[in-house]
Amino acid sequence: MEKKVGIYVHIPFCKNKCAYCNFYSIPEAKGGYKLIDSYYKAVIKHIGEYAAQLDGYLIDTVYFGGGTPSYIGASRLIGILDALKNNGHILLESEITAEVNPGSISKDDLARLRKAGFNRLSIGVQSSDDTTLDTIGRIHTFEDAEETFNDARQAGFDNLSVDIIFGLPSQDRETWAQTVQQVAGLKAEHISCYSLKIEEGTELFMFKDSPFLPSDDVQADMYLYAVEMLDRFGYKQYEISNFARRGFESKHNMKYWLGEEYIGFGPGAHSYVGQCRYSFTEDVSEYAEQVEMGKKILEHDEQMSDFENAGEYLMLRLRTTHGISEEEYYSIYRLKMDFVLELLHKYEENGWAMYKDGRWRFTPMGFLLSNVLIGEMLEAQTKQRTQISKPWQTESAGEETQLTLFDKRPVAAGLFGGRRLIGRNEFS
Ligand code: SF4
Repeated sequence: MEKKVGIYVHIPFCKNKCAYCNFYSIPEAKGGYKLIDSYYKAVIKHIGEYAAQLDGYLIDTVYFGGGTPSYIGASRLIGILDALKNNGHILLESEITAEVNPGSISKDDLARLRKAGFNRLSIGVQSSDDTTLDTIGRIHTFEDAEETFNDARQAGFDNLSVDIIFGLPSQDRETWAQTVQQVAGLKAEHISCYSLKIEEGTELFMFKDSPFLPSDDVQADMYLYAVEMLDRFGYKQYEISNFARRGFESKHNMKYWLGEEYIGFGPGAHSYVGQCRYSFTEDVSEYAEQVEMGKKILEHDEQMSDFENAGEYLMLRLRTTHGISEEEYYSIYRLKMDFVLELLHKYEENGWAMYKDGRWRFTPMGFLLSNVLIGEMLEAQTKQRTQISKPWQTESAGEETQLTLFDKRPVAAGLFGGRRLIGRNEFS
């Protein structure tokens, strides 16, 4: 039986660089527009060269992320989708998503995308407050976002997702509450609600730790408010940052969190196939030239061990409300999770985790602390393994081993921290 796979196409161009964004995307002012044609040619060639590998799969999700996919125009997006259709087997019922930004797509282009087979859009709204949008360098107002949303509906999209961000400059509980309510009022099928992380190299970095930004406490209130309010509007939380009406959870993103296979195309795109993770060079010019000349574009590849996969199981599935189960973990990895269970019982007492129908998951309070909690669980998992393989080893020696295994994982304290675990943009 052929296996199912998701396809991710990375489009690293934007009209403008947002003040908070540290993703690799080339804005118009830095000559991005001039590179689009060579990028497009290279992606089409790249997909054609992968036809043999794609042959063994049934494609059930396709996701165009960025950057701003809509910025390269509907014709090119359709061209890339056609290349995938010609070189792979896209199932009729596939979820085919494109990220679009208000102000970068026309009504006609939306209609063309729908006609070509795109059936889901993820719209970067970010805030309903125009002053905030201006401060963070967005090129649109909330009214523009509403217009794009309504145009998408008229074009026939009945599966729309909207992104919003909390923790933005000058945002307070009141303006955040307005954003949540006004965005819920749009009646999208799906809402992603991200916490802003101030990254080095962004315009906003100079305001890190300034009173200009909401404190961690205020951000925690904002998050818990969104969870409760979106629930009242009929959006069930199914992942740390994602909420959906029943049946409209993102099928593509679920693949990342459930550890299923996906294949990426384009500069910087990541893939996970046959227990191997790999990614391509991020540099657009290098990617285009190398593909054109038939040379290597692979930047990184890593064969995952079973134990690493077991760690990813904990790390990724605990992002979701589906959570983890002892039986499932044992049946996949033949590993016990007694030390992890000890921690989960402790988290339960603190109101951070809950056990229901044989599965453990985080509560909204637990999601707020998830980076720290997951870090502790990974350490516990390593400790358990060390004790099994070297039962004579002392506890402190076990702790030393855990550092060498997980020292590269981002386990920062604070709110979420690991928003971009799987190397693709989650807001744009
Ligand atoms: S946030 Fe999105 S639209 Fe803004 S610069 Fe980054 S990728 Fe582009």
